[in-house]
Amino acid sequence: MTRAQKAEYKAQQDARYAEAARIVVAGACPDCGTKLHRNLSLTGWWQCGHFGSPGFQKEPGPNCNFQIFTRG
Ligand SMILES: [Zn+2]
Repeated sequence: MTRAQKAEYKAQQDARYAEAARIVVAGACPDCGTKLHRNLSLTGWWQCGHFGSPGFQKEPGPNCNFQIFTRG
């Protein structure tokens, strides 16, 4: 990677984390509007309340696959 490519990559990462932080602060899934829940298995892992199979969702409802990572 050239220096410019590295800078570009870092800028993209920063933008992605900034977006993730904004979504987590808002506390709602951008896809379906359900409350987000922290998954304690990994630091900074948040999932839609409707994430997962029926019976394993935080909130029963139509399946939603939204998940996101913050810096912690
Ligand atoms: Zn959702």
